[in-house]
Amino acid sequence: MVNEANNFQELISHCKEYGYIFQSSEIYDGLAAVYDYGQNGAQLKKNIRDQWWKSMTQLHDNIVGIDAAIFMHPTTWKASGHVDNFSDPMIDNKDSNKRYRVDHLIEGFAEEQLAAGNNHLAEELLTSLDTLLASNDYAGVKKLIEDNKIKCAISKTCNWTEVREFNLMFNTQIGSVAEESETIYLRPETAQGIFINFLNVQKTGRMKIPFGIAQTGKAFRNEIVARQFIFRMREFEQMEMQFFVRPGSQIEWYSYWKDARKKWHESMGIPAEKLRFHDHVKLAHYADAALDIEFEFPFGWKELEGIHSRTDFDLKQHQEYSKKKIQYFDNDLNEEGKPFGNYTPFVVETSVGLDRLFLTIISLAYKNETWTKEDGTEDSRVVLKIPAKIAPTKLAILPLLKKDGLPEIAKELMHDCKQSFHCFYEEKDAIGKRYRRMDAIGTPFCVTIDHQTKEDNTVTIRYRDTMQQERIALSNVKRLVMEKIS
Ligand code: ATP
Repeated sequence: MVNEANNFQELISHCKEYGYIFQSSEIYDGLAAVYDYGQNGAQLKKNIRDQWWKSMTQLHDNIVGIDAAIFMHPTTWKASGHVDNFSDPMIDNKDSNKRYRVDHLIEGFAEEQLAAGNNHLAEELLTSLDTLLASNDYAGVKKLIEDNKIKCAISKTCNWTEVREFNLMFNTQIGSVAEESETIYLRPETAQGIFINFLNVQKTGRMKIPFGIAQTGKAFRNEIVARQFIFRMREFEQMEMQFFVRPGSQIEWYSYWKDARKKWHESMGIPAEKLRFHDHVKLAHYADAALDIEFEFPFGWKELEGIHSRTDFDLKQHQEYSKKKIQYFDNDLNEEGKPFGNYTPFVVETSVGLDRLFLTIISLAYKNETWTKEDGTEDSRVVLKIPAKIAPTKLAILPLLKKDGLPEIAKELMHDCKQSFHCFYEEKDAIGKRYRRMDAIGTPFCVTIDHQTKEDNTVTIRYRDTMQQERIALSNVKRLVMEKIS
């Protein structure tokens, strides 16, 4: 039996071997916690992003999408609180100089205890950690680490510094003249681009509350403990939606989005039992409710998406720092017989990491299958069972031989289909080998053109998930694939 840790390593190798994900700057020995998406990975990522974008902006008539710049005026981050508060409590081991996020260090130790059957201790540790962090009691956190003799993985010693906060934002200089240049930040979240455009979008789109603004894009965090492949990266992509509502109605909308987002993940092929809600014990200073949608990753239950009721904090902060009035005039209140007027809308945010969702989908899709054939011999394959609607390539078109007019028929089919969906043409190697390659990159359908095609205009279609094959009319291929991916 292959254990899960090994499976995860196999998945990482598979992603590299089949053009999904490469270590960034690999020829220079890589850059820690930064990854590049290859030809199949970039397409899968785009397909996931497109599904999210469509579900938000096309299927909701009160949500619109924007694309704000990564660089923003530095005051944005003063107003949002990131300059002063966007930090994690860290501790350094004095012997190895290795730095740890204290929550990760203690959670890792608790997981080891759980695996060793010390459930009571593990629970006690996690509860104490939550309580200490909630009250910013860093001396208490250090004591918890020392009392439990939690060691550095490298030096194996318990020789720790004090717990200190480190800001996670990257900064750089803008302006060509050194003396006049100004420090600006690479955005650590996309949400602020939405808040500072609230008035622009509301006015130009004549949006009426409740309404949402959605955005996808890169975010940057100088994560100290960057690990677990693309789960925690220093450059990653977020898909965020801020939903603006009347003050007082935010908890109702919070529950709405909590359920709506979980259902959406299920519609992406994630089984309900692999998803769960985790309510935040320690609320951020701006939130009046918050939870994570967690997924059971190969290395345990972890956050996939955050749903936060952010009150009117962000808009009010930007109003204060910019000295521009950021309010909404609610006509409908008047029609409802209530005194109408201006107010600062409350916000419910849904924020999912595109890379984490990619990891979720690919780790569910990856299967190492073995079976016994009719003649009693063993066979095996590695297959990516990616849902057909988001698979990078939908259809492989494979002439059985490189002659007898078969490539010509195949190319004509390719020409006909490629306007509608992504196809792949291949004529090299034995057909079985070509099927296995398509399984490995997750292509849901393969069509083989053979001599019989010339006689009766039929082809063999092979289904990736079941490996079943059937004979269908050549003229039906496009329609069948379109049906399956819609
Ligand atoms: P975590 O507790 O895992 O650090 P977070 O609570 O800081 O995450 P948020 O600020 O709520 O995360 O960001 C929203 C989403 O962005 C997360 O649910 C996650 O999917 C994604 N995300 C955040 N940080 C990273 C990262 N370093 N790499 C990849 N995705 C990330």
